[in-house]
Amino acid sequence: MIRHFDQGTLISVLTTQPLDRTLDYKAPEGGCFEGAFVEVPLGPRKVLGVVWGEGEGGYDLAKVRSVIRVLDAVPMRDEMRTLLTRISEYTLTPMPAMLRLATRSPGLGDPPSMRRIYRRGTTDEPDRWTPARKKVVAVLDEYGGLSFTLKELADMAGVSTSVVKGLVTQGVVAEEESPRDLPFPPLDPGRTSVDLTKEQKAAADALIKGVRAREYGTTLLKGVTGSGKTEVYLEAVAACLEEGRQALVLLPEIALTAEFLTRVEERFGARPAEWHSGVTMTERRRVWRMVSENNAQLVVGARSALFLPYADIGLIVVDEEHDTSYKQEDGVLYNARDMAVLRASINKSQVVLASATPSLESWANVEAGKYTRLTLTTRFGEAVMPDMRAIDMRAEQLPSNRWISETLRREITARIEAGEQSLIFLNRRGYAPVTICRACGHQVGCDQCDARMVEHRFQKRLMCHQCGETKPMPKTCPSCEAEDRLAPVGPGVERLGEEVVALFPDARIAVLSSDLFGSARALKAQIEEIAAGAADIIIGTQIVAKGHNFPHLTLVGVIDADLGLQGSDLRAAERTFQLMRQVAGRAGRAEKPGLALLQTYQPEHPVIRAILSGDEEDFWRAEAAERRQSGVPPYGRMAGIVLSSPDVQQVFDVGKALAARTDPLRRIGAQVYGPAAAPIARIRGRHRVRLLVKADKNAPLQPALAAWVSQVKLPNNLRLSIDIDPQSFY
Ligand code: ADP
Ligand code: ZN
Repeated sequence: MIRHFDQGTLISVLTTQPLDRTLDYKAPEGGCFEGAFVEVPLGPRKVLGVVWGEGEGGYDLAKVRSVIRVLDAVPMRDEMRTLLTRISEYTLTPMPAMLRLATRSPGLGDPPSMRRIYRRGTTDEPDRWTPARKKVVAVLDEYGGLSFTLKELADMAGVSTSVVKGLVTQGVVAEEESPRDLPFPPLDPGRTSVDLTKEQKAAADALIKGVRAREYGTTLLKGVTGSGKTEVYLEAVAACLEEGRQALVLLPEIALTAEFLTRVEERFGARPAEWHSGVTMTERRRVWRMVSENNAQLVVGARSALFLPYADIGLIVVDEEHDTSYKQEDGVLYNARDMAVLRASINKSQVVLASATPSLESWANVEAGKYTRLTLTTRFGEAVMPDMRAIDMRAEQLPSNRWISETLRREITARIEAGEQSLIFLNRRGYAPVTICRACGHQVGCDQCDARMVEHRFQKRLMCHQCGETKPMPKTCPSCEAEDRLAPVGPGVERLGEEVVALFPDARIAVLSSDLFGSARALKAQIEEIAAGAADIIIGTQIVAKGHNFPHLTLVGVIDADLGLQGSDLRAAERTFQLMRQVAGRAGRAEKPGLALLQTYQPEHPVIRAILSGDEEDFWRAEAAERRQSGVPPYGRMAGIVLSSPDVQQVFDVGKALAARTDPLRRIGAQVYGPAAAPIARIRGRHRVRLLVKADKNAPLQPALAAWVSQVKLPNNLRLSIDIDPQSFY
């Protein structure tokens, strides 16, 4: 039973304003339900809030103001309030910020707007039939229940709008006002599906069983790219729809969404709801409302789709679950993968984590018996994982400013002759990572950050990959003013492109890097052309590693397999392993076997050896042992604290003050490291200092952290952010 508060009762309201508590109001005329979205007065303003419970009271009731109005929206469900509270406690995020995540719908307070729609009227026969009139009626009959706007109907029938208007006068077509936010067309779970292989079928059946049980459960669905993970989890989605519950598929990046939506449409006969940064405001509003009213069965979206007000969610799929973009890196620092599991446990739903290269966290959760694991071992059709070999760069004689070894060059030539594609992989955008002055040795840096500027020759600018700042390529050295002595050092994909043109003058070459395309759509279109065979050689950054299909690709050359191994990041080995396996997985997707060549200066490095041997279990076990040994995630807990301020002295002073008062942390056995300048010591003009807290897996870390930081009063211009389970260290 949802509680109802009669008019005048004291209630507490959580608002989206940055306050550290709920506010008391009186229930409005007609009363309100717990969870209702309301508009309340705050000083001279009106703000959005949610009725959170009984008021706290303890002061003069006559002074308490009344709720202005209850919004026309489904009240926030209990489970959403629980979810927001739990995430707030876990990530130490204030509740108002959590509420903002859950109310990312423009015009939540607007009355539902109307529009004129057209559908079949009550009269069967007009005064006379013309071919144009017949077309209009045929469209209406074919799409049974659907209604159209005037323009949609005329366009679909291929007639002018006056034909439709004529039929309205006749009563054959009805014209009426209808709410703008229309339900999503129903999906048909039984429409089509492929004949699953035995292995796929077994996996699908296991997932379906979980969905039908309407219980909580998390399954890691592991399988190489192309093994049919998507086909398998779409069967679970179908089962969920049959159960009458809603499903959510989370994808890591927008570029993948278009391809995926087409696939869903083929499978279920209609498009699902979409939720990501590329969706229009009107559509967002519609999705938010329709999801809450159970008029959207399936949502495909980015991580924030987790906070939509589902009426009854039965399944959450996290595709490419290892992807780092699931971790929100500013504002509320949450990991959508982990929060999907939390949400499912509150809602008695199933989670499917799909990946070819799972995160160590998920692998460990399987080992610990918390997640079930399903494995697809073979690729669909003939394709097999490519043969993987190292090219020992110590033995190659490369002239300076050349990065493609003779061995790799020969293999590419052979592919061109055979009419097959090659991919040259380098995870570095731009022309050159460093620009140096040959006269004084100065390296051009960003004015706002302690980072080097990266030359982007295509855009004729230098760019800071930290803050996005750009400036034109200077003619003279900013330090010694020598003219024409600035030189690029090291390769980016654009520079590699020049080398490839010089080596293979007759080949068709495509450079794929996220910054070379104006939009995700343009990038997608280019990828489709290339996949169809429009290039002989593809030069790409990690955007090519994700999910795209290149049926003619049989060779992958990794320019610098050692690149990811250099950082101090605890996940460096894991990331390199995942990325190299994914890139290699691009080769040989169709009938032709693939080959992946890794250029490396350290072929005996354990990570490189693990990649080549292809023995993933070995790799995970070794990596897990190492992390367990040093007590780091997933076998210990960590929190990163970043202090930032325009004032360098102040930021260190506060850091030291925190380090001097660690009692609350010591009480739970946690250790504190720092303060130290963060790896990137200045971003956008703010100096950054880091502290790192390490604790045992089961230590009550969050309350201790909260008690610890609350001891020190923070100056106004100093920002403190706490990152639980940090993914990146910068
Ligand atoms: P993954 O998600 O593991 O990368 P997909 O589900 O995308 O794999 O499958 C790769 C390709 O193989 C897709 O085009 C898919 O439609 C096709 N495919 C997979 N399994 C089957 C099957 N049993 N029958 C027909 N096509 C299949
Ligand atoms: Zn910068």
